[in-house]
Amino acid sequence: AFEESVSIVVFGASGDLASKKTFPALFALFSKGLLPKKTRIYGYARSEMSKEEFSKKQTSHIKSADEQADKIKEFTSLSTYVRGGYDDDKDFRQLNSVIEEGEKNMPEKNRLFYLALPPSQFADVGEHIKKECYLKEDEGRIRVIIEKPFGRDLKSSRELQAQLSPIFSEVELYRIDHYLGKEVVKNLMKVRFLNTVMMSFWDNRFISNVSIVFKEPFGTEKRGGYFDDVGIIRDVMQNHLVQVLCLLTMSRPVSTSPEDIRDEKVKVLRAVRPVDAKDIILGQYVAAEVNGEKKPGYKDDDTIENKDTKTPTFAAIPLYIENDRWDGVPFVLKAGKALNEAKVEIVMQFKPVPGALRDHIPPNELIFRIQPDEAILLKMNTKYPGLNDKLVVDDLDISYRDSFPKVAIPEAYESLILDCLKGDHSNFVRDDELDEAWKIFTPILERIDAGDVKVHDYKYGSEGPEVMKEFMQSKGFIDDI
Ligand code: NAP
Repeated sequence: AFEESVSIVVFGASGDLASKKTFPALFALFSKGLLPKKTRIYGYARSEMSKEEFSKKQTSHIKSADEQADKIKEFTSLSTYVRGGYDDDKDFRQLNSVIEEGEKNMPEKNRLFYLALPPSQFADVGEHIKKECYLKEDEGRIRVIIEKPFGRDLKSSRELQAQLSPIFSEVELYRIDHYLGKEVVKNLMKVRFLNTVMMSFWDNRFISNVSIVFKEPFGTEKRGGYFDDVGIIRDVMQNHLVQVLCLLTMSRPVSTSPEDIRDEKVKVLRAVRPVDAKDIILGQYVAAEVNGEKKPGYKDDDTIENKDTKTPTFAAIPLYIENDRWDGVPFVLKAGKALNEAKVEIVMQFKPVPGALRDHIPPNELIFRIQPDEAILLKMNTKYPGLNDKLVVDDLDISYRDSFPKVAIPEAYESLILDCLKGDHSNFVRDDELDEAWKIFTPILERIDAGDVKVHDYKYGSEGPEVMKEFMQSKGFIDDI
């Protein structure tokens, strides 16, 4: 089993993702004793790198590295860099012989291939892995991790899948959506399905509206060249926020097996009504002064070539799930760059109590704060103590920092790589899930790409386009009673 011994190969080892996320996560697992007893790690890329240069790539983003110098030394001594191209038989044969050398003292062969590469390389690398580095059924197992973007619409996503599916089975593939590795997201199923109190109100009888919010306080900051072709919907909504939506709204799976969980996620996505282009808000940030500092607008980013670009940096899209549980409840997915704060959270607003508007009684809210400062909060109306009849809102509060002060929250990548080593697909995206997510967003993205949907200006550092207040009110959201 992978728990005993594994060879981990990181393709694109010279890149940003490998250096910032993959290697630090592997190190964190290693230092906690969570990698298999016999592990070998290989970096593979076209760049020339000496052992020292590769070790630096692997370790330059490790936090509090000074205190862990010994562990880091051990970690880099398990690691080897192999230089090679992504479509060269000879280079992959060489990689295979290096891996085989390392496997000599392993009780079992198991190989994890991590493709930290642009998706344009997936097919070539996949074919060469299959040809030169694959294991026969009785020799051991292979697993392959791939990273978004999985296409830019339904068609390109299916094309990518059509390239990969003849090479690797769905059991071998692990599509990472790193939001599924975040602690509060991993907690959603537990909180929902292991608490009778939660089960009792989790539907359209009690919930009025839900927002799933992603807010970034900075703009593209010279990375607009990449972003302009993508936009906020493809960047965070079709993937991360949809995964959160699935876990929040799906029905109780028949069991906790990965396929039963993923079956329920697919079902809920299939129940989403087509998005109405007239019912969405798009925005693009413009220059503004924030705390006395002049901040540039999106189009001021030199890396953006098209100065008339209409790429949205903000979007609010209400989704309606047409099933017994959720019919009529708007789930507003809201995401934006250059906003007033850094925050990712789910806000579930309850229906008001009778007379609430007249008596200014705020609705209850259940909040899952995914980042920063992980927390689950239930906003309650309660009597202010003392000889008065005053009402205040206070929280029933699970703030992770207070509730679990000794626990360091792991990075999402750590959690997901560990899941993959255990062969647990629950927190990875299945092919049909991806397909359904693209079906929801492709028609609306086509309208947006064609310039058919108005893009509102909003100021850098603001809460988004000014029309948002009215828009949220139209979805039943109450923020000021
Ligand atoms: P990257 O730095 O652009 O690419 C990684 C490595 O792939 C490069 O060092 C390069 O290595 C090789 N490469 C780059 N472009 C190539 C090309 N056109 N043809 C062949 N090889 C090429 O990308 P990254 O930021 O590490 O991201 C890797 C993948 O993860 C991408 O699909 C990205 O969208 C995704 N992702 C990244 C992040 C992140 O935080 N960076 C987050 C989520 C998802 P050599 O030239 O040395 O071979």
